[in-house]
Amino acid sequence: MNHKSQFKTKYIFITGGVVSSVGKGLTAASLGALLQSRGYSVTIMKCDPYLNVDPGTMSPFQHGEVFVTEDGAETDLDLGHYERFIGTNLSRAHSVTAGQIYDSVISKERKGEYLGGTVQVIPHITNEIKNRIIHASQGHEIAIVEIGGTVGDIEGLPFLEAVRQLRSDLKIGNSILIHVTYVPFIKAAGELKSKPTQHSVKELREIGLQPDFLVCRSEKPLDASFRKKTALFCSVEPETVIEARDAETIYEVPLMLNREKLDRLALQKLCLAVPPANLQGWKKVVTHLKSPKRSVTIAIVGKYVDLKESYKSLHEALIHASIPNQVHLDIRYIDSEQITNKKMGHLLKSVRGILVPGGFGPRGVEGKMSAIRFAREHKIPFFGICYGMQLAAIEFARNVCGISNAVSREWVEEDDYQASCVIDLIPEQKQHTLKGGTMRLGAYSCRLKENSIAHREYRRTKISERHRHRYEFNNNYRSLFEKHGMVFSGIYEDRDLVEIIELKDHPWFVGVQFHPEFKSRPLQPHPLFVGFIRASLKA
Ligand code: GLN
Repeated sequence: MNHKSQFKTKYIFITGGVVSSVGKGLTAASLGALLQSRGYSVTIMKCDPYLNVDPGTMSPFQHGEVFVTEDGAETDLDLGHYERFIGTNLSRAHSVTAGQIYDSVISKERKGEYLGGTVQVIPHITNEIKNRIIHASQGHEIAIVEIGGTVGDIEGLPFLEAVRQLRSDLKIGNSILIHVTYVPFIKAAGELKSKPTQHSVKELREIGLQPDFLVCRSEKPLDASFRKKTALFCSVEPETVIEARDAETIYEVPLMLNREKLDRLALQKLCLAVPPANLQGWKKVVTHLKSPKRSVTIAIVGKYVDLKESYKSLHEALIHASIPNQVHLDIRYIDSEQITNKKMGHLLKSVRGILVPGGFGPRGVEGKMSAIRFAREHKIPFFGICYGMQLAAIEFARNVCGISNAVSREWVEEDDYQASCVIDLIPEQKQHTLKGGTMRLGAYSCRLKENSIAHREYRRTKISERHRHRYEFNNNYRSLFEKHGMVFSGIYEDRDLVEIIELKDHPWFVGVQFHPEFKSRPLQPHPLFVGFIRASLKA
């Protein structure tokens, strides 16, 4: 392979050792933010060793949130971290799974592209991985490549072998390897232990990879003797043993890693200049998050409330919105299946804003609609996202417009003509497949109605937001709803689809068919979330 022309990009590979969930993603994202703050153009990608072709069909219970990119890829939630930290949009190319790799190698084999040769992990799978890494990094000065899983996992081996080959193709000075490990503190000995790190570095070396940096997750500070000892055993320099303590807020991690000089040392090892870092924005974010002026309680009424990871972007978007509002958010997750009209007052006591997030399936919808009704009738700020918007429309149909059999097509059989499907498949979708139709995925434009809440919050009339849903508002109900006080304030004009609904006689009742949380960033909080929190503070 000849990669020469693309080799202008410098590479930072990130692996993880000892245990999973050590925060590789956060390290990658934070380092990306730091390098960007020094003026470099940075991209980040994730290679996941599992065999699913994409995480779209994986249960949120197992895998956390599905993050959607502008181009409509359903990706791992780490891509959300990356976008939030580096502030640029990523694409399908930045989320690679072993499933995709094998899928494309096997389909090439079926087409005869390997001319009858034996198709093997090395070089066919590894070449496919290398090509994808190179493709995703094009046009950037620095590409950060996170390898999912933990070193030692069987399924991660082809990815690590591809990294080994790439590093040698790239030649010295053009790539670095950062190994993120866990350093336990043993109370009885009163000591941090480096042995697990040593073993995981040994494992890396066995497959031909020598890390340049060790990012050590630990509860206690790393002292000089720990750094020296670990450096000696792992063949790195003591200053490249980087401390990564648990942070009060994740947005402090870039500043912490900067204090440890990770970004400066990384640039030096990549033979790049070290221009000054502009960290003003990050410092402001952290100061605001740590010194809020007051507090407000917001309820998230959903199905996966036990697993906060499945609402990751949503949670972060709320945190971002708390920054300009200078408020601490007490976010109360309420399981919609626990909601009954009797318990409502108790469950939502002292709640100043109610948010119903996206979701799928009929489970728990009645509870969500009871919460929406409560917000509507008691004039509590309400923010409905995707399913939350659809349910707000159904609740309105039932309790305001008097359509008692209002439902979503999602809950009834395709040929059930008795039900009033306020939320339905659009005609083109019905022809598409027998079951369900296709999903609307990725960015779509939306025209806002002048002087609506949405228009006031966005301060623009044309916006673009990301989608991930199958069903739409049924336009046959539009004029009836309008008569009863609903405002259709956002429309996707090309197909005349409803994107935003609002209520006239309510301080802040907004339902959106898209997922605004995917585009919120700490340095640029999303206007609708900012508006929702502002309204909640006034409630
Ligand atoms: N279940 C709904 C649909 O498919 C909403 C999806 C969502 O909230 N992401 O249209």
